[in-house]
Amino acid sequence: MKAADLILQHPEYHALLEDPATAIEQEFSPESGQMNPFLHLSLHLTVAEQVSIDQPPGLRSAYQTLRSRVGDHEGAHALLECLDETIWRAERHGQAMGANADLECVRRAAASSAAPWQIGRAHV
Ligand SMILES: [Zn+2]
Repeated sequence: MKAADLILQHPEYHALLEDPATAIEQEFSPESGQMNPFLHLSLHLTVAEQVSIDQPPGLRSAYQTLRSRVGDHEGAHALLECLDETIWRAERHGQAMGANADLECVRRAAASSAAPWQIGRAHV
């Protein structure tokens, strides 16, 4: 997946990306409920890589389940929320990045009927 394709999938960021000076000054706090667009896009690239190499093992099949229910982009968002959540927990608790925690989260998302964007928000 290329960054340009990703940007096309996010029309809500176009104005921002055309005006990077303003974008950089803008605050994206958890309280605002809006993920930093640059973080969002870079996490997209990371989860696309995770799926393509099936890392952690089992992630790809969980993603297939998800995308058959909610589509490619929203399925990717669930992965992204889980990755964000796992990184956040690792930073907060000083734990090693848990591949298992990440996979568990994605499997929960795949099995649940909740909207993908509600999955990783426990810490907000
Ligand atoms: Zn997205």
